[in-house]
Amino acid sequence: MSLLSISGITKRFGGITANKGITFDVAPGELVGIIGPNGAGKSTLFECISGFYHPDEGEVRLDGQRLTGLSPDVVCRRGVARTFQKLRPFQGLTVLDNVTVGALTRTKDVKHARAQAREILAKVGLTEKTDSYARTLSTGQRKRLELARALATQPRVLLLDEVTAGVDQRTIPGLVQLVRDLHAGGLTLLVIEHNMRVITAVAQRIVALYLGEVIADGAPDVVARDRRVVEAYLGQAYVQ
Ligand code: ADP
Ligand code: MG
Repeated sequence: MSLLSISGITKRFGGITANKGITFDVAPGELVGIIGPNGAGKSTLFECISGFYHPDEGEVRLDGQRLTGLSPDVVCRRGVARTFQKLRPFQGLTVLDNVTVGALTRTKDVKHARAQAREILAKVGLTEKTDSYARTLSTGQRKRLELARALATQPRVLLLDEVTAGVDQRTIPGLVQLVRDLHAGGLTLLVIEHNMRVITAVAQRIVALYLGEVIADGAPDVVARDRRVVEAYLGQAYVQ
């Protein structure tokens, strides 16, 4: 049974094929990790799923219904929320208002949306920052805010793009635990994560991308030892 079905997604930018026939399914309640070196096409795939890009070929379905071709706000209302690798909270709004904006995708009642936002802020551990301006948050706190905003839209599938990237090392375990808690609560997650140790610890399954293509798909320990995956990462170590 599949909740999110990605089939034959191809996305080109001029001469670059950022996604090449990407195909895999995500079952309800599953936490699937997406790995791959920089430029592998991970973020582009999220853009194609969430409606920010329209793929040149292929389609994405949620519960059998086609998402491809819909605008990002409609995809979000259908139940797919995402966080951005490059964080973009509304800097001049408070933490509470940022999350309330997310909740207002589901209700027109501002009071109700605020109450939901407060609940979600508690869930992600940001209650003490409720009335702070987003611009005053640390990177780790901004990652939590981004998560809270996405959760406020009441997703059926949550797409997380590099939640632990660029944060203080000491902040990582808390963020990882938060992702685990969301999964334990029944949420279906698709998680892009550069840190192999983090992803093998949280994912039930890993899909590895390289040069826009799926090169491995399976259990974390098997994918982590896959020859093509190891070579893809080694190659990157040499070029960096
Ligand atoms: P990843 O997230 O795995 O690091 P991306 O999906 O960001 O990879 O990028 C995949 C490839 O597509 C890269 O070669 C990147 O330069 C290219 N790319 C991504 N977005 C664009 C864009 N908007 N215009 C042109 N090229 C792009
Ligand atoms: Mg990326």
